[in-house]
Amino acid sequence: MIGAGGVGTVVAHKMASVPSVFSEIMIASRTRSKCDAIAAAIGKPHIRTAQVDADKVKDLVKLIRSFQPDLVVNVALPYQDLTIMDACLETGVSYLDTANYEPKDEAKFEYKWQWAYQDRFKKAGLTAILGCGFDPGVTGVFTAYAAKHHFDEIHYLDIVDCNAGDHGRPFATNFNPEINIREVTQRGKYFEHGRWVETEPHEIHMPLKYPEIGSRESYLIYHEELESLVKNFPTIKRARFWMTFGQEYLTHLRVIQNIGMARIDPVVYEGIEIIPIQFLKAVLPNPVDLGENYKGWTSIGCRIRGLRGGREKTYYVYNNCSHEAAFRETGTQAVSYTTGVPAMIGAMMYLTGAWKQPGVFNVEEFDPDPFMEQLNLHGLPWKEIHDQNLEL
Ligand code: NDP
Repeated sequence: MIGAGGVGTVVAHKMASVPSVFSEIMIASRTRSKCDAIAAAIGKPHIRTAQVDADKVKDLVKLIRSFQPDLVVNVALPYQDLTIMDACLETGVSYLDTANYEPKDEAKFEYKWQWAYQDRFKKAGLTAILGCGFDPGVTGVFTAYAAKHHFDEIHYLDIVDCNAGDHGRPFATNFNPEINIREVTQRGKYFEHGRWVETEPHEIHMPLKYPEIGSRESYLIYHEELESLVKNFPTIKRARFWMTFGQEYLTHLRVIQNIGMARIDPVVYEGIEIIPIQFLKAVLPNPVDLGENYKGWTSIGCRIRGLRGGREKTYYVYNNCSHEAAFRETGTQAVSYTTGVPAMIGAMMYLTGAWKQPGVFNVEEFDPDPFMEQLNLHGLPWKEIHDQNLEL
């Protein structure tokens, strides 16, 4: 695995807990001491660590050749997706990640860059599993499970992501601040009747009720899995993504944007070029450190309306995850936990042969059943609600 941040910490803990599948683990990242700290916290002999700059294909190839893994799990940043995929092709190793590629100089995420690897992975007989965190990731598996077991046709898909936790800080992001702020400040976008509709950032919002949490104001934002889900489930008439934000968070975000601290272009400060959002990351709380005082729950799921046996049906499948329980188990909060557990399960699906096919795939293209089974066993149990008002 490459990357030793919040998500990497969880992936390592979870892989180490299944030695029958993950018999040898290598944690590699830019800062080796962070890999060593994770390995020491787990305290198992079958974990090795290494330093690697994942922006450099040559360095990656050298490391992959020396360790000879069956799979590379990329939980570094989306900027490294393509270099790691290139290195996997060069060394003949399969690939998995949790977020689609973003160029550093443009806040824009799309699958086109990674889908373009389809022929090369197929020809090489290698598998690339894209977007195997929670959202994207489990949300795609939930949709595939709904399509397989509960619907003849899915018509309306609303992915709802609520973080009802409180970390006690005035402002912090739950995962890498640069990636997170780039994601939530962009224009809103959803799919309806075969085309994409754009909105101002946070223009559309409404209160939604989350199970065992209650009502939270939820904002329509664009999220990457919408792109692959409408392609892979062509009966979908409308697909949207909703995320909860508190007023304090939104106010901070507005100020950060208005004063230029969300800028991703370089500015010269005392003769040195700095990128404001990267400087901001350096002064904000590290998401890895939020866990200790984090209380409350996350709740992420899919609310689906469609047809079954000629009749309209609704279905809501979701997971609630406790920040405190995630911290007790892995030392990180629930946002890293809900991303890291599915990445481990996706890796397990590949290594056990359940999701092993040549080509580049989004998770919803595979059989959801074995993955859904493992979610229940590894800390992310899911629940279903049939034929109730979806509010949407
Ligand atoms: P962090 O910033 O905490 O960790 C990123 C890690 O990658 C750090 O260890 C960092 O090293 C390392 N890294 C960065 N650049 C390089 C490089 N060039 N070479 C080697 N290592 C590098 O991020 P998170 O753990 O919060 O997130 C990890 C990934 O998970 C991101 O891609 C994020 O978008 C994704 N994600 C996906 C979600 C989902 O549900 N699908 C939800 C949340 C996150 P260093 O420590 O030296 O900085």
